[in-house]
Amino acid sequence: MEITKLPLRNTNPTRLKVAAYTRVSSDKDLLLHSLANQVSYYTELIRSNPEWEFAGIYTDEAITGTAVTKRTDFLRMLEDARAGKIDLILTKSVSRFARNTVDLLSSIRELMNLGIEVRFEKDGISTANGQGELILTLIASFAQAESESISANVKWAHHKKIEQGIPVSGVRIFGYEWCEEKGEYEIVLDEAAWVRYIYDSYLGGSSIKSIAKNLKELEVNGLRGLPLGRTTIRRILTSETYVGDLLLQKNFTYKPGKNKANEGELPMVLVTDAHKPIVSREEAELVKNIMEKRHKTCDNYGYEKSKYAGLIKCGKCGCSVNKVSRKNQDLNALECRVRKIGECDLLPIKIKDFDAITDKICSGLDNVKSAVVYDESIEFNLKNGKTKTYQRSMNLEDALSGRLVCGNCGSKIRRCKKGWYCNRRASDRHACIVPIIHSDEIEKACTEILGRDGNLGIKAYTDIEKIEIDVKMMTFYMKKGDAKLWQRT
Ligand SMILES: [Zn+2]
Ligand SMILES: [Zn+2]
Repeated sequence: MEITKLPLRNTNPTRLKVAAYTRVSSDKDLLLHSLANQVSYYTELIRSNPEWEFAGIYTDEAITGTAVTKRTDFLRMLEDARAGKIDLILTKSVSRFARNTVDLLSSIRELMNLGIEVRFEKDGISTANGQGELILTLIASFAQAESESISANVKWAHHKKIEQGIPVSGVRIFGYEWCEEKGEYEIVLDEAAWVRYIYDSYLGGSSIKSIAKNLKELEVNGLRGLPLGRTTIRRILTSETYVGDLLLQKNFTYKPGKNKANEGELPMVLVTDAHKPIVSREEAELVKNIMEKRHKTCDNYGYEKSKYAGLIKCGKCGCSVNKVSRKNQDLNALECRVRKIGECDLLPIKIKDFDAITDKICSGLDNVKSAVVYDESIEFNLKNGKTKTYQRSMNLEDALSGRLVCGNCGSKIRRCKKGWYCNRRASDRHACIVPIIHSDEIEKACTEILGRDGNLGIKAYTDIEKIEIDVKMMTFYMKKGDAKLWQRT
């Protein structure tokens, strides 16, 4: 760009030396127009004021859409200002003046320190009226807003596409691929066949879990080459895509490179009959109905939902307590969620016992709002606002099961009809000298070691790690880490 420097008039020491700073767009047509306009505007403005002396017009080219600005004239203006050639700088607005915040802030500060006023016409502010700091703040916030408005422009283009029902990027969908020429999704036949299979199986009564299992056996993979999991199958069964519709703006970009699900921040646009369907609307509706019905008894993925889910917490670690199924249904129990990874040793409770307790003291699980299970007790919060506490008890034999060791030969000591017996001696009478240990003696020893308060079985379960028994002595290894000796009689 060519900038003609206008000749200065005779300097009059009493008049203010006034310059103007402008920035024009790099768009060629606009540039000439804008430049001519601005130059004549400022020339006219400055010259028409008898108290002003024309000190020049400085013009820089702004490159649209980026923060890059050629600021050669701005720097020249600063030089001239430092040389005392300028008293006042006129500019259109903070937004015209500001581009690169950091050195702009320092430039304005420097001009202020030199006693040079900067006037922003459009904003109606000036660095001379004690507004300097305000302007600095404005500049800083403008730079921020500007970078936001650049991304707002990008978002706008994005939005325009969405309004026209055009997916922003032809994201690959299982069963469809984006056809750029047609500008719509086209069916991928082999994948579509599996979509049909999924719908047919589900409508035929299969659970999502069993569909996933079948697909895995059939070695059907999803778009990432992994087996179609329950989550994907569920998504396929609930997606509007397969009836021919497109729901746009399900996700959006809130920061460059960061996507999130649209939870109402932006409008979603539903385009009906956007492409060929794979399933009929009737089938999709049926699937929806079945899913809602099953949801009441199953979790999202088709597993049987335990009626205890979300209701019970572990009083020891705060984790949830839920049903764990065993082969022998009688042994189904409620356990702390982290028990299986060894992070909590909350005493499990058999389902049938728990049910009996809730029936007895809460008149059924339906009345229970929540429950907290401890080793020693269960606390029920009822829906009517009342609280009920149940003292747990445990058979001492059950509590000690697996924790008794023969002090003589090191074998486990297991239960028998009369009490406890060294495993090695049980298989060979002469292999170990520790004879049968009667239940009474164990109970006496435990009572003396653990005290009489509370339920002995529970205390044994929570406090005792291991008991080593030989002919003369029982050694109690406690969970806390200490050991206690008990003299056998
Ligand atoms: Zn726990
Ligand atoms: Zn033994």
